[in-house]
Amino acid sequence: MKAAREQPHPTPAMVQNLPREAVFARRIEEYLEVVRQEAPSALKMFQRCFAGKVSPRVAIKCKCMECVCHDRAAIRDCTSPTCPLHPYRPFQKDAES
Ligand code: SF4
Repeated sequence: MKAAREQPHPTPAMVQNLPREAVFARRIEEYLEVVRQEAPSALKMFQRCFAGKVSPRVAIKCKCMECVCHDRAAIRDCTSPTCPLHPYRPFQKDAES
């Protein structure tokens, strides 16, 4: 499993001086750059997700990938049974193959 990555959070000054939408847009762009580097094959999926153009199933996949730094095996072996998404996480069948 990959090490946890620090999430970039806006500083209070950013939140106070910029419109909320601008802060969110900046954070999304920063995150998409991480995806570009760590999981380039998933970039279009994340772009469509942030545009609100994916199904709930794909949105859950994106959330799980974000949660574990794009490590498919870590999603399959997720050790957080209290996560509400745990029963819906993707790649569960990978363990059977
Ligand atoms: S199911 Fe596991 S990998 Fe998916 S969001 Fe929840 S804790 Fe993260």
